[in-house]
Amino acid sequence: MKSAHADSKSIATANAEFAEQAEQFNLSFRCGDCLHVVASEVSCSLGYPNAMLKGAVRAIDERGYYTFCKYFEL
Ligand code: SF4
Repeated sequence: MKSAHADSKSIATANAEFAEQAEQFNLSFRCGDCLHVVASEVSCSLGYPNAMLKGAVRAIDERGYYTFCKYFEL
């Protein structure tokens, strides 16, 4: 699903705001908190690409698509 943030500046702004709120509310939504992670590699045991779900906290990728994983489980 694509977000309404079309240009790179608004994507960067949205990601910065999201990262701040994720920290403020202690959101769990990334591979590091997921039941399906291979902890030693921070890879996905289900085989999903997860580059956007580790490292810098981002809600939207550079193309404007949301980065969330629908298979995330605590
Ligand atoms: S299921 Fe999704 S959130 Fe969980 S480890 Fe795999 S890619 Fe990450």
